[in-house]
Amino acid sequence: MATKEDYYELLGVSKTATAEELKKAYRKKAVQYHPDKNPGNKSAEEMFKKVSEAYDVLNDAEKRAAYDRYGHAAFQQGGMGGGARGGGGGFHDPFDIFREVFNQQGGGGGIFDEMFGGGGGRDGGRDGSDLRYDLEITLEEAARGAEKEISFRKNVTCERCDGNGAEPGSKRVTCPTCRGAGQIRRSGGIITFTQTCPTCAGAGTKIDKPCTACHGEGRVPKTTKLHVRIPPGVDNGSRLRSAGNGEAGLAGGAAGDLYIVLSVKEHELFERQDDNLFCEIPIKFTLATLGGSIEVPTLFGKASLKLPAGTQSGTTFRLREKGMPSLRGGRQGDQLVRVHVEVPTALTAEQKKILEEFGRISGDANEPTSKTFFEKAKKFF
Ligand SMILES: [Zn+2]
Ligand SMILES: [Zn+2]
Repeated sequence: MATKEDYYELLGVSKTATAEELKKAYRKKAVQYHPDKNPGNKSAEEMFKKVSEAYDVLNDAEKRAAYDRYGHAAFQQGGMGGGARGGGGGFHDPFDIFREVFNQQGGGGGIFDEMFGGGGGRDGGRDGSDLRYDLEITLEEAARGAEKEISFRKNVTCERCDGNGAEPGSKRVTCPTCRGAGQIRRSGGIITFTQTCPTCAGAGTKIDKPCTACHGEGRVPKTTKLHVRIPPGVDNGSRLRSAGNGEAGLAGGAAGDLYIVLSVKEHELFERQDDNLFCEIPIKFTLATLGGSIEVPTLFGKASLKLPAGTQSGTTFRLREKGMPSLRGGRQGDQLVRVHVEVPTALTAEQKKILEEFGRISGDANEPTSKTFFEKAKKFF
């Protein structure tokens, strides 16, 4: 069979042409070859059909992908048209759609945009990269959750050129070096090899006049503010993902995501272990001996802890569900309070007298631990 012309060449666009560029190119060709303008001209009618068919394929992301992979074979009966919708030969009659549009258009041009719009980026663009933002929070914030405003610099789509890198009024033109292929053929003696086009770096198009704001990059660095909601229960290393808040994509590519990586500051009183919190609290030896209630700080306000008479130093008490909330919605952790009995220093004469008296009348009857200890130790003396 006769070799079919390349769809991109038919429309005069590069392989990386955006939907917008395709639409423009098609509109130009369609007007040029339209039968109404070329009555009785068979070759114009033929061209009109061809450009319509080319646009029909390239304007459909799925068909275009299939065409890019397999060429015309994608749409032949029994071909490798895996991705092509409708299989072989499923084109609508180009005259129908075009006439409809032409008749309604009335010189305005707006209807074209609506009909062939759908615009937006194709998969061909480069996606923006993901970004990482390290955020330090306090243990209180980790426990109760928090709202934060963060500010960071990232590459955003250039507003002046709308990301296409071309100065307004100018446009992307097919790269003259590779004529849109993105690659050039070099021959070194008997070997021919292809390499990425040095002029356009493989894009197939080049900017006529680079945008003055982004120097043709299509993106500009900008300080961006973002409101972040931190859920209760987060821990060191917890990551929050903010979809689409990474770097802007290029040439219609999707924006990356922003990952906020949390670290929790060390706390003066509390030490965290999973969802439990530990703290050590000093108590008076009289309170430890006689028993009573103390107020204990927690991350959620004060709590009351009842100490039995004869509480030993180092005893750990558990305050249920006063620890960290569970990030996964499970049971809240506990707060574990280890008491440390403090021995008084710098006694007044009166205090000293009373304690000496206390020691004299006590013997060792109310000190069970030391009693056992000294009995065991006897055999070493
Ligand atoms: Zn720009
Ligand atoms: Zn090139």
